[in-house]
Order: sequence, then C-alpha cells, then structure tokens
Amino acid sequence: MAVKRIAQILSDTGVVIPKIAGKSGDTIPVIYPATAELVTCFREDTAADVDAAVSAAREAFESGPWRRFPASERQQLLRRAGAIIREHRDELAVLETLCAGLPVSHLTGRQIPRAAENFDFFADYIATLAGETFEQEPGYLTLVTREPAGVAALVAPWNAPLALASMQIASSIAFGNSCVSKPSEYTPLAVGRMVELLERAGLPEGVVNVVNGRGAVTGQALVSHPGVDRIAFTGGTATAKAIMTSAASNLTPVHMELGGKSANLVFDDSDLERAVDGSLINIFSNSGQMCIAGSRILLQRRIAGEFIERFVDRSRRIRVGDPMDPATEVGPLAYEAHMNKVLSYTGIAREEGAEILAGGGRVDSLAPGFFVEPTVVLVENNSLRVCQEEIFGPFATLQICDDADEAIAIANDSEFGLVGYAWTENMALGLKLQQSIRAGTIWINTPLLRDPASAQNSTPRKRPRSYRGPVLH
Ligand code: NAD
Repeated sequence: MAVKRIAQILSDTGVVIPKIAGKSGDTIPVIYPATAELVTCFREDTAADVDAAVSAAREAFESGPWRRFPASERQQLLRRAGAIIREHRDELAVLETLCAGLPVSHLTGRQIPRAAENFDFFADYIATLAGETFEQEPGYLTLVTREPAGVAALVAPWNAPLALASMQIASSIAFGNSCVSKPSEYTPLAVGRMVELLERAGLPEGVVNVVNGRGAVTGQALVSHPGVDRIAFTGGTATAKAIMTSAASNLTPVHMELGGKSANLVFDDSDLERAVDGSLINIFSNSGQMCIAGSRILLQRRIAGEFIERFVDRSRRIRVGDPMDPATEVGPLAYEAHMNKVLSYTGIAREEGAEILAGGGRVDSLAPGFFVEPTVVLVENNSLRVCQEEIFGPFATLQICDDADEAIAIANDSEFGLVGYAWTENMALGLKLQQSIRAGTIWINTPLLRDPASAQNSTPRKRPRSYRGPVLH
C-alpha cells in the first residue's frame, strides 16, 4: 500500500504545520521520514536567541508569579496542561508523526497520553513534598526546606520527542523552576505546539521557553549559558560528555538519561508465548529507537530453538509501513543518516560471523521512506560490535546460554546499564536477577511498562553512563 503523502495527511486531518519562531540562524529542514518529503524549514536559534530565551526564563523565575504560587495553584495549572494535551491529542500525534515517523496509533494510544500524564503525575507529586527538621542539637531546630533551583535547560532527543520533552518540562516547572526546552532539530513541531498549548492552559509567560536548532549550535549555546542553573539531558553518551564539559565551565549540575543495550533474558520456565510477545515489543516498538530497547535477547538453551522459530516468524510478519495507517506496527526510522547507520550493522554482523535470521535490509518497496526490515541476528559471542554498540533500530541479537549465572554475566558485560528484562515464572530467580543485573530498572515478565513514581528512585547501581534517574528539584 502506498504511503500517504504530506498534502494528503494535512487535508485529511485538517492539521496546520505551526510556524517555528526561529530567528536569525541557518535554515534547517524538517523531513517526513515516511516519504522523505520536506515538511517545513525553520531558522535556527543562535547564541543571541538562546540568551534571550534564558533571560525570559530568568525574568519569569525572579519576578514572575509561578514559584510564588501555592502548590495548589501550580497543581491546577499542571492538570490543565495535561487536559489541553489530551484535547489536542490527534493534532499533536500528526505533527509528531510528520517529524519522527512514529506510527500515529502508537502516539494517540500511548505517547501523547503519556505526555499528559507527566503533567498530572507532577501535579500530584508536589502535594506530597515535605521539608525536614533535625533536632539533635539541644536548643536548636535545623530546618531543611525545598526550593526551586532557577532556570533549567532541557535538551531532548528525537525518538519520543513529546513524551520525553514533556517529562523534562513537567518535572522542572512543577517545583517552581522556569525552563528553556530544546527539542531535537529533527523533531521540533509537536514540542513547539505543546508549549503554545501550555501557555493557553494558563502557564505564566516565560515559565516555559523553546529554542530550536542543532546540538552544536543552539544546544551548545544553551548548556554553556551561565544563566542556567540546572541541565537535564536525554540523549546519547557522546553528547552527554560534550554537555558535561560545557556545563563544567559554569559548574552547572547535569541530570542525564542516556542510551542502552539492554538484555532481555528468557528462561526455560517462562510462559513462552508471553515471552515472545514481550520480547518483540521490547525491541521492535518505535522501530527499536528506544533507549530501553531489549536489544540483546539471551535464551536458555532448552527453549532456544522454539523461541527462535516463533520470534523469527513473528518478526517477519510485523506490519511495517505507513505510520498514518492505524494498522501499522512499525514505521520508518527518524532520518536518513540514522537509517544508513542502522543498515550498516547488517554488514558488520556478517563480517563478525553472526547469522542473519530475518530482515537486515531496507524496505525497498517503501523507499524513499526510511524503512528498515525488523532484523534478527544469531550471535555466539557478546563481545561482537552488534552486542556492544547501541544500534537504536529494529535490530535484535539472539544468543544462547546455559543458566542464570551465564545469562547474568552476559547481561552485565556491557558499557550500558539502563534497564533489563527477564521472563521466568520463578520469582526467586526474578529477585536474584533484579539484584544481580547492573541496571537501573529490571522488568520481570513485563514489556515496556512505565511507572513514573518508581523511575525517580531507580538510579543505576554501578554504571553511571546511562540511567533512569531522579527529577529536577
Ligand atoms: P543525541 O545525543 O544526538 O541528541 C540529543 C539532543 O542533544 C538533541 O536535541 C541534540 O540537538 C542535542 N545535542 C547534540 N549535541 C549537543 C551539544 N554539544 N550540546 C548540547 N546539546 C546537544 O541523541 P539522539 O540521537 O537525539 O537520541 C538518541 C539517544 O538518546 C540514544 O542514545 C538513546 O538511547 C538516548 N535516549 C535516552 C533516553 C533515556 O531516558 N535514557 C530516552 C530516549 C533516548
């Protein structure tokens, strides 16, 4: 089936492409990944534009009403923000699809509701905060109170733009901070529209500001700005290092959520049908462009044959196609260079001696869209590049192991430590895995469930390079 082109999408949905208020910099194109058509162009924000946005955030923080509001008033506005996002769900989903290529049904069903929930969650959370009193010194009371930090710089990636930018925005402003959000240069539209909606929901001017542009220009100007009090960054490890270096010149604290190469362990006592389903979701949702993708699937030998047969068969039957079609399960990758990077790993896998069991190529019938076949590769050794490097695409490695200790050792043999998955009916084993796999979150018999309340405390045990961490306050 042909992929719907932009003109048709806009005419069918009535969605209007918002103007991005970029000011003085280079012209940046936004490309629809499903057809490679130009959606729009915007002028990149330069250091001077970033300075103006930081000043607006500072002014709102120092002189505006936001941080002086009682929590109940901030709660009301945060809930209104959630409500207005829900009201505009379909429009936001179309804008997001046009930039990121994510299937619209996934956006309307999961990611846009999640963006709204982020505001609701922090509305609830701020009502539970309390200070502390210390009474150890006779005659003295030491009070610890919670104060907002000031201006937050929020740098977001392209793989789940609205869901992740909304998390950063909600978690910073809920406590009285103001912020400057920088979406990825590939995906500015839905985030920009959401910020307009936040103002319509009644958020005071200057509390949430947006700048747009590439990381090396706009992002770099933002994270090295001396007027920024906190930085929250979601993205890749190399960028995180660059941001920490920029932040160091002003001693600005940085909160990071980075990449992953997470293990998905399937044991021989698991409910195999559920494990196959969950493992497919863990690696192929969002075309595998997820920090929490379960990209290394480790199989206990006794069930390996049956699992591989079912998993490969189901991978081949995944409906890859038009992200505007509600029946589509997997859309295109977000941009051409990323697609080429993901495709290059098929060659790397072959050179390393891995066996390609499914996919491995571009979906030529959907070109010039950036579609890649769900790819499954059998490996014998976790030291291969396809097991160690974050591919960030629909690319699963399968590896067979004998027992839990071997599986844990392989799971932990990684530079990353974001999350892990395991499928077993043995809860004693589940607890052992939870304690032995070095990652911030371990899901047992659970695909991709998010509980924001637990995410606040799931810091990594050993590896600081990637984690799901605490909120900004
Ligand atoms: P990226 O690191 O290339 O870019 C992320 C953001 O940083 C973009 O907005 C980019 O413009 C900006 N940026 C780039 N260089 C910068 C610089 N020098 N200074 C300031 N900003 C700069 O990441 P990406 O390709 O957009 O996203 C993919 C990565 O994000 C993957 O590694 C993925 O695992 C990770 N990720 C992590 C989480 C999480 O919660 N842990 C969630 C989603 C994605």
